[in-house]
Amino acid sequence: MKTAELPVAVTRGEGVYLFDDNGNKYIDAISSWWVNIHGHAHPFLAEKLYQQAKKLEHVMFAGFTHEPAVQLAERLLPMLPGEFSKIFYSDNGSTAVEVAMKMAIQYWRNTMHDAGYMMQEEHHKLKGNRTRVVDGRRTKIIALKNSYHGDTFGSMSVSERGVFTLPFKDYLFEVVFLDIPTKDNIEPIKKKIDEIGEQGCCFIYEPLVQGAGGMTMYESHLLDDIIQACKKHDIICIADEVMTGFYRTGKMFASEHMQKQPDIICLSKGITGGMMAMGATACTEKIFEAFLSDDKLKTFFHGHSYTANPLACAVANASLDLLEVGEFRFQLDQVIRLHNSFPTHLAVRTSRFAMKNLRRCGTILAFEIETNEKDDYLNTIGKVISKKALEAGVLLRPLGNTIYFMPPYCITKQQLERIYIVTQEVLHDL
Ligand code: PMP
Repeated sequence: MKTAELPVAVTRGEGVYLFDDNGNKYIDAISSWWVNIHGHAHPFLAEKLYQQAKKLEHVMFAGFTHEPAVQLAERLLPMLPGEFSKIFYSDNGSTAVEVAMKMAIQYWRNTMHDAGYMMQEEHHKLKGNRTRVVDGRRTKIIALKNSYHGDTFGSMSVSERGVFTLPFKDYLFEVVFLDIPTKDNIEPIKKKIDEIGEQGCCFIYEPLVQGAGGMTMYESHLLDDIIQACKKHDIICIADEVMTGFYRTGKMFASEHMQKQPDIICLSKGITGGMMAMGATACTEKIFEAFLSDDKLKTFFHGHSYTANPLACAVANASLDLLEVGEFRFQLDQVIRLHNSFPTHLAVRTSRFAMKNLRRCGTILAFEIETNEKDDYLNTIGKVISKKALEAGVLLRPLGNTIYFMPPYCITKQQLERIYIVTQEVLHDL
């Protein structure tokens, strides 16, 4: 609070614009932390929200159900890449991840509990003979370095140990972190997975783009190799599509860029078009079946007060309606096309600070600014850039010295070019 700028008091939103109480307007170049896909205060979403609020605002989701939740699950499931059969609702991205982790951990407990003990016994017997050590427990959780999966304890645990998690590091569970895959390190990564082998519980990843870790991008075929290596040992693969879902990477889900599909998928952010808080975790029939039992201890004991909130479900259904409108495809393609021509179609202005690592994935464009500080989240140039951009009417929120654009898809050519121009001017005048 001491070092933060005074917050901007936003009074209204419309399309890509946010309006403050001083009559200024800002283009939301980062979709309000990546949630907004159709623009602010979208009339169709607002109308559907209002209609639902008049009918049923909320009912607990234990022992009760309602049409918006059922309809949403029935619509989402066939859209998901892979063989998904069930959806579990929660409130946000972190809880979608939390649910996924708990599902994976309990899956092994439910299916291997007895077998696990047998194998441990075997291990004790074999030990004296210096035979291969067998540990029947699936305890190893695997994630990628530099990842970000949320702010709750489970989701922090599978995230990179960095500034966000530092005060809590002693309370986070142990995770095997793999390097971000490149063509040079993919073989050692696969070897490490083979070593983990039957001790592997799950592998969680942000497909193609690591968001909060600085919009780090990596290649789909390398992720395919990792997923394949995990599948060889039945390690449960969890795609955290909280940011990448709903066309951020150009396809409905980033997992569609891969040949190999996850067993669990986490969704949030764009699921409601950015209007309501909601999380969803989808799983395959195989995962679901491990919980389907007369044994009460095999129950998935997880539920939030606002699980499957009807307002959020209704808005999510309305957002899916908008994604089916022909105009949407045009808008999406336009953002991708314009990003692809950045910055060559603008006069390249000289700046004291060079731009480096320009990269794109679908509707996401990112680059770093070369400074004499470290390339990380605490790099101070980001704050200077966001302040100057805001003064020029563009909402940017660099991650340290990483600048990125991730606008709502309804943005026009002129509005997106305005973002590019303002950014160039800000960099030039630094
Ligand atoms: N996973 C990913 C990939 C994210 O980018 C985020 C949020 N930035 C989260 C999980 C957590 O979502 P939320 O902020 O809604 O808890």
